[in-house]
Amino acid sequence: MKIGLVAHDTKKILMQNFCIAYRGILNKNELYATGTTGRLVEEVTNLNIHKFLAGRLGGDQQLGAQIENNNIDLVIFLRDPYSPKSYEPDAYTIVSLCDMHNIPIATNLATAELLIKALDRGDLEWREFYK
Ligand code: PGA
Repeated sequence: MKIGLVAHDTKKILMQNFCIAYRGILNKNELYATGTTGRLVEEVTNLNIHKFLAGRLGGDQQLGAQIENNNIDLVIFLRDPYSPKSYEPDAYTIVSLCDMHNIPIATNLATAELLIKALDRGDLEWREFYK
């Protein structure tokens, strides 16, 4: 399965810790991330990540295009609900694109954990048929 990863700046450490905790599941999948998120996760895990441009340079749009083409099976976008920076990608756009294709998306840690465990159980295998 193809997993998209994005974290706003205040959530990047959380994303690193999430990926450390679940690297055993993540490494069985293809990972895609906006540039900085991907680099920071690679620094603390041995995961291979396809890195798009940094979010501020259009990496969110590159990820969005993959979602738009139904090429991503699961998105984890740890967003900052309080003080996202003006240049940070808007989660709403990514959520809307996921809704177009019924792609599961987590915007907080609690849902991210549920989805990653569901993925590991095989609960998302319907995505293979849906595509
Ligand atoms: P980044 O993009 O991973 O390149 O930082 C996401 C963001 O800007 O929040």
